[in-house]
Amino acid sequence: MRNVAGYGALGFERSVVRLEAALRERLPAPHRRLNPEEIDVAYRHRNFERGWRIDMVCSDGATRQIDLLVGASFPAGYPRTALVDSPGQLVWPHVEYDGVLCLLPIMAEVDAEDPGSVGLNLLGRSARLIEELIKGDIVERDFREEFLTYWFYARDSGKKVTSLIDPAGPSREVRVWRGHEMVIVGETQEQLGRWLANRFGKLPGKKKYHSEPAALVWLPQAPLPSEYPAIGADLMALAEGAGAEDVELLAGIASSANKDVLVLIGADGRGGPGLIAVTTTAAGMSLARHGRVEKPLSKGFTPKGLPAAVATSRLYSAAPVSKAEVSRADAAWIHGRGKDLRTPTLLAKTVTVIGCGSVGSSVAARLVRAGVGTSNLVDPDDLDWSNLGRHELGAGSVGKNKALELAGRFQKDFPHLSINGHNVGAHALVGGYQNLLAESDLIVSMTGSWDAEGAINRWHVVDGRGTPIVYGWTESRAAAGHAVTIAAEGGCLRCGVGATGIPHFQACHWPAGAATIEEPACGNHFTPYGAVELGFVVDLVAEAALRALIDPPAQSHHDLWLAQSDRLLTSGGAWSVAARELIGRESAGGRTASRGWLANDCPACSLVGDALIAPV
Ligand SMILES: [Zn+2]
Repeated sequence: MRNVAGYGALGFERSVVRLEAALRERLPAPHRRLNPEEIDVAYRHRNFERGWRIDMVCSDGATRQIDLLVGASFPAGYPRTALVDSPGQLVWPHVEYDGVLCLLPIMAEVDAEDPGSVGLNLLGRSARLIEELIKGDIVERDFREEFLTYWFYARDSGKKVTSLIDPAGPSREVRVWRGHEMVIVGETQEQLGRWLANRFGKLPGKKKYHSEPAALVWLPQAPLPSEYPAIGADLMALAEGAGAEDVELLAGIASSANKDVLVLIGADGRGGPGLIAVTTTAAGMSLARHGRVEKPLSKGFTPKGLPAAVATSRLYSAAPVSKAEVSRADAAWIHGRGKDLRTPTLLAKTVTVIGCGSVGSSVAARLVRAGVGTSNLVDPDDLDWSNLGRHELGAGSVGKNKALELAGRFQKDFPHLSINGHNVGAHALVGGYQNLLAESDLIVSMTGSWDAEGAINRWHVVDGRGTPIVYGWTESRAAAGHAVTIAAEGGCLRCGVGATGIPHFQACHWPAGAATIEEPACGNHFTPYGAVELGFVVDLVAEAALRALIDPPAQSHHDLWLAQSDRLLTSGGAWSVAARELIGRESAGGRTASRGWLANDCPACSLVGDALIAPV
């Protein structure tokens, strides 16, 4: 079918008629319909179906022609305009190689029900753009501000370069690793090696990923298309324009590399910093003569004896350079496209997640995605088939330790972060891994076990509660979720929890009877709910954790999620008196609430200063 946007062939023809009528009735300038051959010749790769050519008298006295063009899915999408007899690629900004003008953002929405007004509006914008281009003020400005766009048009290598570096000055030496599929640039050998080992696995034995020196030249302003390097010597010219240190940098890389060099060029654009990649080709140009391959870079010298001046003149020579795009894979870009102010704070933080079950695994996943720099995941249990419906891991991890599997997966997916798994229980953790706890900025505990959390709380109290802990749990059928943040002031966990781990504050009660169901095996109880209901609880705990990381709390407090009341009622439950007092008698649920978590001289708090008790 020709028109895939649901308007059909009839919708296309009707819209074209309306657009043409609008041109006839509302456009004072002379115009005519283009024939199919004209469209095909001028816009071979564009798939335009119809077009009109409009004469426009410009302020410089010349008459220019603008084509108005529509594609097969019209009136969906928007018409394009083109400058006939355009000056060529990269002479004027916003004018593509075939004259088509870039007027609207890629995501622009237009009114498909009024094709005539859309067409006239675009013609008006096109005329204004061309007038501005003739005046010339915007030419250099827009080329510089949007230089990544114009570099994209100028690139001649399909291979992208992936960058881990901080896209900011000053100019400096960086490192590059060249793989079969990827070229990756990092700040240092150490950073690059760690990233590669995380992403692709450690190399056997003592082998290391081998990187080479490369350069980042940071320019005071983005280059114009006329300044884009075409040959090696242009790179040196660009460096000379930037400063003497940049020239030294390029020369130094040339003499230590002994092969073609990669130079990243960076500058600030309107939307933030941008990086582009240039690679010399002089060294790769081996000429076979007299049946043997000559090395154009080191010819006449032993590779180690190549003088720096010779390496520099041979690399930055008349041989062409290859121009590639750069994909940013640095942490600031991944976590917020360089615009999330919380990212630097989170990258510096360490979180220990105790309990990687249904809630814990998903809270850990959210914290990793939020950009927490270091995560320790702790759990002694293996994944079972029955966990799969509400766990981050899948079939490939069944029978394997949850913490180690989760850490392995996250580490591979987020190679710029540090994620470690620990196959230990809570008692072993507080007994033998106190460094891990002490080095954490936040501990998040979702073990679902009072035995475990009681032990963690006793350690916490004795340790002085310097590190906040967020405890998360769900009530039956995920009808309510809790995130209790224990800070230095206010209650400890035990202050709000009974001797056997029953919290004093219960949001739900179950008049119809026990809410747990027994598995057909001895002593195993569970409460039936799925990943969807659990999602709200995961978000509650993850959000409490994120807040505690960014703005460490002074006072303990309690955040709750209360599910929709009708879901609670249909599963035989009811809100407790305490929950009703918190959210009001008539509340339909489906909301969060907060309350204090107060100290009450609990048995755990009395441990403070008690020399007889060692944390167990
Ligand atoms: Zn207490």
